[in-house]
Order: sequence, then structure tokens, then C-alpha cells
Amino acid sequence: MSKEKTATELLKDKLLSDRRNGAVKSGTEVEKAFDYCDGYIDFMNACRTERECAAFITAEAEKRGFSPFDKSKKYSAGDRVYFNNRGKSVVLCVFGKKPLSLGAKIVASHIDSPRLDLKPNPLYEDSELAYFKTHYYGGIKKYQWTVMPLALHGVVMNKNGEKVTVRIGDSEGEPRFIITDLLPHLADEQEKRTLADGIKGEELNILIGSLPLKDGEGGDLVKLAIMKILNEKYGIVEDDFMTAELEAVPAYPACDLGFDRSLIGAYGHDDRVCAYPAFTSLFDADAPEYTGIAVLTDKEETGSDGVTGLNSAYLKHFIYDIAEAQGENGRDVIRKCECLSADVNAGFDPVFPSVHDKLNAAYLNKGIVLTKYTGARGKGGTSDANAEFLGKVTKIFNDACVLWQTGELGKVDEGGGGTVAKYLANTGIEVVDVGVPMLCMHAPFEVAAKIDIYSAYKGFKAFFEQK
Ligand code: MN
Ligand code: MN
Repeated sequence: MSKEKTATELLKDKLLSDRRNGAVKSGTEVEKAFDYCDGYIDFMNACRTERECAAFITAEAEKRGFSPFDKSKKYSAGDRVYFNNRGKSVVLCVFGKKPLSLGAKIVASHIDSPRLDLKPNPLYEDSELAYFKTHYYGGIKKYQWTVMPLALHGVVMNKNGEKVTVRIGDSEGEPRFIITDLLPHLADEQEKRTLADGIKGEELNILIGSLPLKDGEGGDLVKLAIMKILNEKYGIVEDDFMTAELEAVPAYPACDLGFDRSLIGAYGHDDRVCAYPAFTSLFDADAPEYTGIAVLTDKEETGSDGVTGLNSAYLKHFIYDIAEAQGENGRDVIRKCECLSADVNAGFDPVFPSVHDKLNAAYLNKGIVLTKYTGARGKGGTSDANAEFLGKVTKIFNDACVLWQTGELGKVDEGGGGTVAKYLANTGIEVVDVGVPMLCMHAPFEVAAKIDIYSAYKGFKAFFEQK
């Protein structure tokens, strides 16, 4: 029996924010969120690198009527095109009913994640054990990457100029790899190191074998035996490592977490947890009024520089090209574009409460996080979204019953970080950060909530479908 609300309760309802857990709010589709996330887990297990994500997304797009963008063609409302940038970033576009001169609605996320890249000369032997040397990619806590199973993904260009694809360590029956750590019995000196130095960059060496070449003579026979296996399996020689791109990633699959299965643990949530909603919402967007663009970019974790990162001109040029194909001026179109920079934010972690301002932190299960500004030390390096645009985006979310919250990345002066938002803003596109809150960001196993992941999908879809 619901008893009548008091005057104070009614005033609270009217004037104060409702910051309850999404699961207890009416309108939160928990069951739908759980169903949606089954597809997300499949995606995460199929794709461990930016290249694999780009290939997967391109193939899924083609199944749904997307074709490579052709400058010479004239497109009309509902037509679906894509641009695959060197196999590492993808732009998907659905033409809207309104002219492009009114701008496009963009959702931009990244598909690269922190990992360990092999060095150009990775292979060596020490004390009859063979190793790969690595150089870490993105911001990691190095000690987290030891003593767990690793897989190896990437490409090697062989002497004939052919690209050889490597993917080993994820499937049943395949060998895995490991970075060793000291036993506690002998770690007294190591344990005096700071946490940041607990494992040093040059100690991130991957153990890859231990048997010397049978009947061989001379030194380095384990290294030689490993190279022999690699040559037989992939047709490569040691020199080919110098031009290769090989990435060591955690070898365990994404899975449900918790007795209630409300959370997902996975490697690479940052930022595939926003990338998956970005492209699935565009796939599902119903006859959009405005042209919709989903950007799945590379290189965010190393600062967005590079030809496949959003600090390069590839997105701007794509927009110019679709504008010209429609007889519009590219600059005019860019000026009218609006974008959700879809990236994760830190969720409040009650085990480590001191780094957050409780009032302004994001929380798991309270929906997608609107982050007005990122940056560090007085908002340095942020694009700081405009109130007018934030007001517009939150109205779209509210009208579509999207669960959302606001969140700062930690306390003032506690640290900081950035996203692709500023690179879009710097081209003249209106932009705000919106994404899924998470725990253990940049760890080899990150945590996100299903309700929040589905909220991202609903939010991005409403943004694409705005009138
Ligand atoms: Mn990110
Ligand atoms: Mn990141």
C-alpha cells in the first residue's frame, strides 16, 4: 500500500535531484540491459585489439547495408556508408532526411586499449628461457600485468611483403604466455620499491619458451628453437619483428560478475564499452532526421596523435567529402556538427573513496556519465562543454528516458585525464563527453555495469534519432 506523500516529500520530488540507483527507478529496463549485454560480451571476446574491432565493425556494418564511401556517388536519406582508415579506425555514416548543411550528429569512441606492444627487437634468451621484450601502450599500472595468462595478437609483414595475421592464446587448446614476478619469499627488496616501480618497464618481459634446439650447437638454442616454431607456423624470420605490430593482451574472456550478474568484467572496456553502443545504436537508429556518424577511432590511449587517431584530419576530411558529394560546403557542415565524445569515466570506488568528491563522482548503475570537462590543474587541456549544448543533450536523454548522471574524474587536483573531445572541439564541432562509469580503469580486467552500458546505447540512439 502506498501512503500519501507529505508536503516535504512532494517538495523534494519537485526540487531536488533523484540520485537513486537505476535499478530501483521506474523506467529502467534491467532485463533489456542484460539481454543487450550478451551481444557486448560476444563482441569483447571476438575483438581484443583495435585492428580486430575495426574488422569486426566493418563486417557487421556491411551485413547491415553499409558500403565503402564513394566520392563520386550521390547519396540520399537512409543510405549507409563507411570509411575504414587503414584497418585501425572506422567511420560509419547514415545519411539523414535533413540536408547536411544542418550538420551531422556524431558519436565518437575509441577502440584501442592499454596493452603491451612487442619491441622492434623483442626476442632474446636468458638462462635457457626465451622472452619477448615489450613497451607498454597507454597508461598502465605495470605490476598489474604480471602473473596472468597473455595472448598475442597483431600483424607481421614478411619478406615477400605479405601481411601475416597472428592471433594466439585465446582459443581453447592454444598456449598462453606470462610475465613472471618474484616469489614473496625472495621479494623483500622488491617490496621496498614504490608501487609505481614494483614492476619496471624493462621487467615486462614475456616468457615464451624453454626448450633448446635438439642436437644444436653453440648458444641461444632456445631462442633458435622458438624462431623455428614461428617460422614454421607464420613463415617469418627474426628481422620481420622490426616491422611488425604485435600486441600482448590478457587471455581471459569477458564474463558476468557478481551473484546478481549485474556487472561485466573484461579486458578493454575502455573504450569498447562505449564503442559497442556507438555502432549498434547507429545500426538501429530509425530513419534519422539528421545524418548520423559513429566514429570508432584508434590511438586515444597514447594521446590521439598518429594517422589513425582523432588528432589527424581523417574525420574532418570524411565530413568534407560527404559534404562535397552532397553539394555542400565542408566548413559549413563542420560548424553545425554536434558530437558526443563517448568515453568511460571513473566510477566511485568505496574501497578508495579519498580520490573522489562524493557529490560529483559517477556511480555504477546510475546511468551514463555526462562529463562537462576533463583535464587537470584548473581544467587544463579540456574542451569544457557549453551549457547550451549540455542542456540540449540532457533534454534529449530525459525525453527518451535515458538514465544519466554527471561525474568528474576525481577530486580537484587529484590527477586527471583527457579524451578525444578536445580534438573534435578544435575542428569546430560542438562536443561533450558522455560515457560509461567503470571500476579498475586501465587494469587488465575492468568492471562496468550492464544498466550503464545499456543506458549508453539508449542515449546514443536518442541522440542519433533527435528531431
Ligand atoms: Mn578511454
Ligand atoms: Mn583510457
